Amino acid sequence: MRIAILSRNKKLYSTRRLIEACTQRGHEPLVLDALRSYMEVVPSKPEVHFKGETLNAFDAVIPRIGASITFYGTAVLRQFEMMGSFPLNESVAISRSRDKLRSLQLLSRKGVGLPSTGFAHHPDDIQDLIKMVGGAPLVIKLLEGTQGIGVVLAETKKAAESVIEAFMGLKANIMVQEYIKEAGGADIRCLVIGDKVVAAMKRQALPGEFRSNLHRGGSASLIKITPAERATAVKAAKIMGLNVAGVDLLRSSRGPLVMEVNSSPGLEGIEAATGKDIAGMIIEFIEKNAQPNKTKTRGKG
Ligand code: ADP
Repeated sequence: MRIAILSRNKKLYSTRRLIEACTQRGHEPLVLDALRSYMEVVPSKPEVHFKGETLNAFDAVIPRIGASITFYGTAVLRQFEMMGSFPLNESVAISRSRDKLRSLQLLSRKGVGLPSTGFAHHPDDIQDLIKMVGGAPLVIKLLEGTQGIGVVLAETKKAAESVIEAFMGLKANIMVQEYIKEAGGADIRCLVIGDKVVAAMKRQALPGEFRSNLHRGGSASLIKITPAERATAVKAAKIMGLNVAGVDLLRSSRGPLVMEVNSSPGLEGIEAATGKDIAGMIIEFIEKNAQPNKTKTRGKG
């Protein structure tokens, strides 16, 4: 198959592994920088151009779109969808997953376990917002933060009030969340492909830190997840409409809680922690599922 990988850099671990897996399985991979792909939007004949050439539709497109280029990257992917290429994850699902609040709203509608979360605009509502999520300590998050940046633990009500006020003053979009203390600075990353969790790892924060992101110095280890955790992760990916997802769970006293569903999960940490060939499994999924014009939304939403 002809498979395009939308990625800004061939040397990134995940991109390299996907190229390798394509080649090993007899496919023809091509890495395209989404920001160097440009589009001709004309009636009934959508086209993507790259460095002066017009590209034909691919059998599949693997989007590895960084959070900072979501708008442009999903526009390029949508153009490929309209040309009939099979996207590993659909543009609409990627856009949804990039907004933490929108994701939690979709998950809450279907009864998935979540940390209690509040969202407000006006400073006059701060007191009630804090009460709603169970008071301090609580977590304040920028809606579009990644890698743990923009996630703050406010230990006291006073600290929570002033941080929320400051963010509101800056017109930053934030949500306020119940702090899951019993998670002990750890979370679980479940890698979902299709309707299965194919790998899982525990990420533990450094001492004195509550964010377990590997980018914040967290360490990864192998973990055996429970059937409830497995079912929650698969359900979350399905609700978001993602074929491949990194679902982050917190272990709480009331069961697994979904924190986030990531549409471009990094492969390095999880392959190292589990020793599994995740890139190979992704290409295998494409082999089984890629058909022309099979996109559910075809960029409609
Ligand atoms: P990002 O998308 O920036 O990684 P997350 O929402 O995943 O942001 O939060 C970063 C880390 O902070 C998580 O991996 C987790 O360890 C910790 N964390 C986030 N929310 C909570 C919470 N409500 N309770 C306890 N820990 C949390």
